[in-house]
Amino acid sequence: MWSTGVMRIIRPISLYNTLSRKIEPISPSSPGELKIYSCGPTVYNFAHIGNLRTFLFQDLMKRTLLAAGYQVRHCMNITDVEDKIIRDSQVGLPADAPNQARHTAMKTLTDKYTAFFLEDLEAMRIRRPDVMPKATDHIGQMKTLIQNLVDKGLAYAREGSVYYRIAGFPTYGCLAHLDREGMQSGSSVDVDEYEKDQAQDFVLWKAAKPGEPTWDSPWGPGRPGWHIECSAMGIELLGDRVDIHTGGVDLIFPHHENEIAQSEGALGHAWVSTWVHGEFLMVEGEKMSKSLGNFYTLRDLVEKGFNPITFRYAIQSNHYRKLINFSFEGLKAADNSLKRIRAFRKRMEEDGIQAGGGTWKEALDPSQRLEKARTDFWGAMSDDLNTPEALAAIFTLISDLNAQDDRIALSREERDAALEFLDETDSIFAAWPGEEKTLDTEIETLIEQRSAAKISKNWAESDRLRDQLKAMGIILEDRKDGTVGWRKA
Ligand SMILES: [Zn+2]
Repeated sequence: MWSTGVMRIIRPISLYNTLSRKIEPISPSSPGELKIYSCGPTVYNFAHIGNLRTFLFQDLMKRTLLAAGYQVRHCMNITDVEDKIIRDSQVGLPADAPNQARHTAMKTLTDKYTAFFLEDLEAMRIRRPDVMPKATDHIGQMKTLIQNLVDKGLAYAREGSVYYRIAGFPTYGCLAHLDREGMQSGSSVDVDEYEKDQAQDFVLWKAAKPGEPTWDSPWGPGRPGWHIECSAMGIELLGDRVDIHTGGVDLIFPHHENEIAQSEGALGHAWVSTWVHGEFLMVEGEKMSKSLGNFYTLRDLVEKGFNPITFRYAIQSNHYRKLINFSFEGLKAADNSLKRIRAFRKRMEEDGIQAGGGTWKEALDPSQRLEKARTDFWGAMSDDLNTPEALAAIFTLISDLNAQDDRIALSREERDAALEFLDETDSIFAAWPGEEKTLDTEIETLIEQRSAAKISKNWAESDRLRDQLKAMGIILEDRKDGTVGWRKA
């Protein structure tokens, strides 16, 4: 399945490629089509707002490419077997629990947080990736890939585990720009996450340890390492050429470095053309951590009265490669900016008071101003997704057209052209849709939250949401098939 935008002419887009450390025009391996792989969530808890920043930047990039006229096939994996998932899911199981019970416990945890993750995407209007494979559904492909690397002499088995021999891959370190001198091939690391100065042979298959769910393999019972999951699913679902691979900057090393070694080692040629990484998020000037009490999920922001779309806008008003200092003041400012855009939309939806009267006296007339805003907007977005400049083009247009409309009302055609531009830009920013759409999405989200509350037997929350909807003038109708309909009172 491919996602398709509305434009038929393709606009050129340039992105910063971590591999070359340059902003480069993207060049799809098949004309007009882009295959994108994004490292997805590790589903053992709620995503925090730093994680969500990465998913928002990926969505913005994808929406920009679609609006620019490309066809996109986007694959994002769900990591549902990994060190932290096993740690959290096996709590309370007896030491002699059968393997099946261990798998079930792991699945119960990951299913729960996958559902929450999908809710977060929905609430922030992040378009669902075209394919979302779960790692545990692709263990066979991982074993095949590992065997391929063993056959090529790039991996070796030791005591039931299999390791990648980094000395066998001469360009190892090219993405993170590592100094090969300091690498310790021959010594190996068993954990999935480690630092650059610990670059050494990394684990592909982990031998069974007591208390862990396992799968059978040619090397004995065990489970895949985290890094091999993305290579196996990426090659299987997107093929042996991926145009763009994305993730947070924290994944450059070791995760993406290892993906390159695995995929290119097995394929024998380059796998990904452009590596795009999103920066971190700090909270009120500090690194987010539970111990500092500045650790937030999307649900925490909603509880504090903020709309997920305000958060989306706040994140996207920063360039994706700049560190964001998240603050509640910043969220309020984002809310004010959004109100300005929405007020302008409303003004354009209505007819002007003196529609069609008089002439425009300045150098650019409204339609030329609009064309300039469009050129500036696309100039900014096509230059490595420069969202602050793109938004500046929108706000300049709003100031100019509001000033014009105050003096001599814009005509209906001019107002419609401005609305068309708002729709075009909203197809990327997803924050200022027409009023009806906004309300519908909000209501549907509340209804979904209420259904989720009912399923988890949280009656107080379910009643609270029902009252909130009632206050909005929405009447809920519980249907026989278990779904919920609604109408305006
Ligand atoms: Zn990955």
